[in-house]
Amino acid sequence: MTDTNASLWERSQQVLVGGVNSPVRAFLSVGGSPFVVEKAAGSRIFDVEGNEYIDYVQSYGASILGHADPKVIEVVREAALAGTTYGAPTRGEVELAEAIVARIPGVEMVRMASSGTEATMAAIRLARGHTGRNKVIKFAGNYHGHSDSLLAAGGSGVANQGLTGSAGVTPGSVADTVVAPYNVIPVLDVDTAVVVVEPVAANMGLVEPEPGFLQGLRDSCDDAGALLMFDEVITGFRLAHGGAVEWSGVTPDIWCFGKVIGGGLPVGAFGGPRDIMATVAPLGPVYHGGTLSGNPLATAAGLEVLAQLTPEAHDRLNGIAEGLGAGLLEAVSGAGVAVSVPRVGPLLGIFFTDETIRDYDDAKVAADNGRYATFFHSMLDQGIALAPGPYEALFPSLAHSEADIARTVEAAATAAERVAAAHG
Ligand SMILES: *Cc1c(COP(=O)(O)O)cnc(C)c1O
Repeated sequence: MTDTNASLWERSQQVLVGGVNSPVRAFLSVGGSPFVVEKAAGSRIFDVEGNEYIDYVQSYGASILGHADPKVIEVVREAALAGTTYGAPTRGEVELAEAIVARIPGVEMVRMASSGTEATMAAIRLARGHTGRNKVIKFAGNYHGHSDSLLAAGGSGVANQGLTGSAGVTPGSVADTVVAPYNVIPVLDVDTAVVVVEPVAANMGLVEPEPGFLQGLRDSCDDAGALLMFDEVITGFRLAHGGAVEWSGVTPDIWCFGKVIGGGLPVGAFGGPRDIMATVAPLGPVYHGGTLSGNPLATAAGLEVLAQLTPEAHDRLNGIAEGLGAGLLEAVSGAGVAVSVPRVGPLLGIFFTDETIRDYDDAKVAADNGRYATFFHSMLDQGIALAPGPYEALFPSLAHSEADIARTVEAAATAAERVAAAHG
């Protein structure tokens, strides 16, 4: 008997919690049940029944070149033949750290980890250890992974689950976490260790920082003696060649990376100037380690991705996102459906409203109107895979062709008619 999406989904629900290993994949916020992936290549993803989709999830941005880029696969294969992990220093991790340092002015040293969550968690510890202060300020709707102290009012999967944080997180773990609205400069005090921000918010849909917001955070941190942390797990090496610093002109004290720099393998990293990073063990008292940190497969993939991400490649990705964004806006609004398609460089979002979205409260109103689910399912029926939740960004990759974009826009016009019919 051959597998079907339904048969595998049935089996997975017996042995995997909710059938998944990360909540958003379970389709709870759009309804229905997910397709089960067989394979992917370039802009396409295929389910176990052989259905083909143009994929705008791309592992939530981890695959910026598109799926299974041939050169990435080749370097991973070569690395695997030489052993998959050693627990000792490698050339690959040196070269990847050098490549990161070369691209991001202000980053002088890096520590590799195995996920974005781990990077942000350790970076918060670093900020506290370095300043000797406890309080962390984060913004509602910004997602920084699933460590206890950062889960409060996270966007993304946390938002999709309708949870404000999580059961099992003690009041003590979040006692020093202050949640502030995005795009408003919070009041800091002498207890503030760090302000952590997504420099362009991409986990509550896409929300652009208003002019002066990031610079205002920089100035307040300087006044209060607090550190500024950019969580660039999505924006790093995507927003621009040099990430958010290049795009905004604002330089934080600590950076967190993930997704893109792993080339589709498990990775995270945090970095900053030498004096701050020297607080991390073994140079300093802040502990961070990991059996698989700097994993040779992940560093090989990451290096190859960064090698391909030339300024020209970034321009090309911008162009792809620009074409997609303009096409979606025209197709959906053409059907008389209120929509906004925010775009910041290659980052793209879609909100079914014509209100301006500047923070999480705004994003929630748009996400809760039910239109995204209707749109999502019509797109999926037409072979276009968007993220199964209204809080996720769209991730066009360098593998998305003009023909892919044209097909997507055409499908969007049909999907928008469904939205108009279902929601008036
Ligand atoms: C995805 C994400 C994380 C968490 O990374 P994981 O690899 O999923 O642990 C942290 N911060 C931001 C901004 C993210 O988008």
